[in-house]
Amino acid sequence: MASDSDVLESERSVTSKGGSSAHAELAAQWARINARLQSAVGEVNYRAWMRHMSLGGVDGDEVAVQLPTAFMRDWVRDHYGDTLRAAWRAENPAIRHVDIRIGHSTDAAEEVFAAAPEPTSPNSVPHHDDRAEPRHDPLGALDARYTFASFVVGKPNEFAYACARRVAEQPACKGFNPLFLYGGVGLGKTHLMLAIAWELNCHNGGTPAVSVAYMSAEKFMYRFIAALRSQSTMDFKEELRSVDVLMIDDLQFLTGKESTQEEFFHTFNALVEAGKQIVVSADKSPSDLSGLEDRLRTRLGCGMVADLHATTFELRMSILGAKAADARVEVPDRVMEFLAHKITGNVRELEGALNRLIGHAELFDQPITLETTQDVLRDLLKAHDRRVTIDEIQRRVCEHYKIRATDMASPRRARNIARPRQVAMYLAKLLTSRSLPEIGRRFGNRDHTTVMHAVARIGELMERDPVFAEEVDLLRQMLEA
Ligand code: ADP
Ligand code: MG
Repeated sequence: MASDSDVLESERSVTSKGGSSAHAELAAQWARINARLQSAVGEVNYRAWMRHMSLGGVDGDEVAVQLPTAFMRDWVRDHYGDTLRAAWRAENPAIRHVDIRIGHSTDAAEEVFAAAPEPTSPNSVPHHDDRAEPRHDPLGALDARYTFASFVVGKPNEFAYACARRVAEQPACKGFNPLFLYGGVGLGKTHLMLAIAWELNCHNGGTPAVSVAYMSAEKFMYRFIAALRSQSTMDFKEELRSVDVLMIDDLQFLTGKESTQEEFFHTFNALVEAGKQIVVSADKSPSDLSGLEDRLRTRLGCGMVADLHATTFELRMSILGAKAADARVEVPDRVMEFLAHKITGNVRELEGALNRLIGHAELFDQPITLETTQDVLRDLLKAHDRRVTIDEIQRRVCEHYKIRATDMASPRRARNIARPRQVAMYLAKLLTSRSLPEIGRRFGNRDHTTVMHAVARIGELMERDPVFAEEVDLLRQMLEA
């Protein structure tokens, strides 16, 4: 659960630089630079390397850009140093030097500026959210399940969480309007938006009630079309423009729907001009939402843009712990670890799996064990296995070492080819359920002992050479992502 100290921690980091406009300006520049880089180097490279960057700080005409490991620093410096410098110069001519160095973003506020969208999951059809209708009536109708207190905070979502808290405390505060939350399906965007609404409606501690309208973009479009049909668009506009906070969920639904976008844009501008708060969510960053009109995209990106990253093992464990405690059900640690390892997609799936286990345990009046878990969730787990294919591994490894795809199967034994091939075999053993002979066949019909040797050799090298270990580990992470 988000304890008060968590909240304070994250909030301090957002405002640590005084929430000053200089900081906000720099942050905005950094966000734009990231958007530029993304189109300059392509989505895949950006996601693999540059999204790990964070802003270290500015000193005179020098800006520091940080990467978490030596390997990543070198990689970015060697491959993208010029691009990065050019992007900075284009954005801020006062910057003359870009220092690319090792460092972790201690300031959560900066994480977001290194934000890139998560890969959208295959079933990311725009889903309809009935959880909340546009409402001006405080209390009652809002769902008490979606509050800040029930939102589990971890590294991947702490910045988005802090921004949402901030907006709930002080709607329309400078630098946070509009608040644009984005991330893959089921990572908590709707939860955070409803938490803002809940907070504003329930806990505004004596201040005059704030009117909040929340609706999905789909609903927005539906309402707009209905208003057009009944010639009551004026009423619709009036209604929207009378609120203090307007939240539109799943904005990607409006891509390509020009007249609705147009209407949203006008409402949006009118509200911002009147000092009202806008909160928007989408599955991609403003710069990546293709099919959005440019001026709308620009306006959306000029407040605060916060990314909900894919969950980590730690976050999944905390969420399971919190949900199990909530349901007052005993779930053994081993089961939680198993679930957190296996169900890595999004929180909704994780929740679904846990609910199924709990339901099953209650129905049959049995304790939850690892065995029952594997049994009850068999279909789900099967779908999650076999994620990475040998093809993908080979492709990624070739890309990384800049060798040809055919080198994976060729008999050539030159070190600069043989080593990457061994890395690919090692990863194939690690990440797929293929047997050694099967793996051997996919690498130019090699013998299973060759694969065995490769696996052992890479393991050895990784132990001896931490930079190499980091490199292989990074490849693994990229494949697993
Ligand atoms: P999105 O809108 O991003 O698709 P939702 O907000 O609908 O995702 O989240 C999916 C489900 O997962 C919801 O039931 C939500 O309460 C839950 N959830 C997501 N993130 C968290 C979190 N950090 N802590 C607790 N529950 C979460
Ligand atoms: Mg949602």
